Amino acid sequence: MVQALAGLALADVNPARPSDGTLRAEVVRFLASGLKTLVWPRAETSDDVNAIVASLARIAPDDLSVRLTVVGMTDHVVEAHGMEQACETCMYYLQRRRFCELPELMLPVEADWSCGLWRI
Ligand code: SF4
Repeated sequence: MVQALAGLALADVNPARPSDGTLRAEVVRFLASGLKTLVWPRAETSDDVNAIVASLARIAPDDLSVRLTVVGMTDHVVEAHGMEQACETCMYYLQRRRFCELPELMLPVEADWSCGLWRI
């Protein structure tokens, strides 16, 4: 039962939220259009992470371009300190759903994308 519920997209339990597919298309469109996100500096310390998370919490959930900008989202892998920081290796990435479950983000992402909050 719990596993079945965990596999549900938020849109399935919250009809006000766009489906993963709709959100994914919007995110792809923003990134493909050349949206300049804050890729650097990466969040290195807890204070860095907390600052970005606090910023995200102040942005309306539907203000997608600003959320992507603040978090430094890219549609390609970013290498920092000799490590490839891909979504697929991040602790927040849900592989089967291709989704970021960072509570302040909660967005469809792709395995070969990245953001400044990457954590192993
Ligand atoms: S927190 Fe992790 S999974 Fe989420 S977008 Fe950033 S790198 Fe990708």
